Amino acid sequence: MFFEPITAAPADPILGLGEAFKAETRPEKVNLGIGIYKNAQGETPIPQAVKTAESRLLTEEKTKNYLTIDGVAAYNHATQILLFGENHEIITSHRAKTAQSLGGTGALRIAAEFIKRQTQAQTVWISSPTWPNHDAIFQAAGIQIRHYRYYDAASHGLDWTGLTEDLSQAKQGDVVLLHGCCHNPTGIDPTPEQWDALAQMSAQVGWLPLFDFAYQGFARGLEEDAYGLRSFAKLNRELLLASSYSKNFGMYNERVGAFTLVADNEEVANRAFSQVKSIIRTLYSNPASHGGSTIALILQDADLKAQWIAELDEMRERIHAMRQKFVATLKACGAKQDFDFIIQQNGMFSFSGLTAEQVDRLRDEFAIYAVRSGRINVAGITDDNIQYLCESIVKVL
Ligand code: PMP
Repeated sequence: MFFEPITAAPADPILGLGEAFKAETRPEKVNLGIGIYKNAQGETPIPQAVKTAESRLLTEEKTKNYLTIDGVAAYNHATQILLFGENHEIITSHRAKTAQSLGGTGALRIAAEFIKRQTQAQTVWISSPTWPNHDAIFQAAGIQIRHYRYYDAASHGLDWTGLTEDLSQAKQGDVVLLHGCCHNPTGIDPTPEQWDALAQMSAQVGWLPLFDFAYQGFARGLEEDAYGLRSFAKLNRELLLASSYSKNFGMYNERVGAFTLVADNEEVANRAFSQVKSIIRTLYSNPASHGGSTIALILQDADLKAQWIAELDEMRERIHAMRQKFVATLKACGAKQDFDFIIQQNGMFSFSGLTAEQVDRLRDEFAIYAVRSGRINVAGITDDNIQYLCESIVKVL
């Protein structure tokens, strides 16, 4: 028997949690695990702009012919505008090439394969902590991983000294993976000055920066959140980017992402990108059309785009409001610790400071599910569950 010796793989730390939550029967259960946005009613709705674009697409679509290997051209172009801004030199000089991908995960996997097969890079530097799939994706591609310090548990802030100390060991040609904004899992981003300093370090040593941009619009706004990336783009001629629209378009199951390569000039970009297309051809040939076409429709239509931005603003503002309410309710429930740092964090996640044992107790005793690192999805908090949640947390502190 060929399959007999195979051992079972461990459950994914985050997706496995979702399955456990589904199976949970206690009615008071609260899910702060997987990173999906939820509104005040605890639902993950489809944005109205997406619904409108989808129905238009359904009437106007004339063929189900294959897309090209790199997907919907208008989607790829719109991606570059979101990343760099309208009329950016990178776009007008055609030295960026984008391929529609299967979510941000797919874009990262393309990046990892491209790095492994086509560059001299031996090592990728990944923040510690990070989204667990980062390490797994680069491991799968056979690239050596090193970690840089990121989180200072004492101050609940960025460990800037540790980060710069560790990254000072990154060599020319090493890949440095950066979270564009809303760092997952900590919710802590560098300040503009820190981004500028990192961009300078990168240019001086000659890193190959790889931006993972999965939450554009969730920290401060679409343009503001691109600060770090655009600071790097000023000083670094070559960049790799993995975009995800799962969260900001609420299109998780349509697998919408993009891989972008920026080269020194158009000719090099074309040559390098031809290799990216070869990689995609052997992985999945070409992407699915629906998600990319929907987003392209929205981003090309001024009214739909404005509607989408308004809906995105609403998501961001709700999360921010819940952060404040969460901290205030913890205080009101008698928490002795200072949780004010939660208000400063960006995006959906908060590194709450809860220990793995406390997270386990929350699950076992109160049916509250979070990641064992102490990461909680603030978007999972609603007016209906906040009191129960905070009372339970205070009991396990
Ligand atoms: N990068 C980070 C930092 C993420 O948090 C996520 C999603 N949780 C992804 C990439 C992957 O996004 P997608 O679901 O679009 O593959």
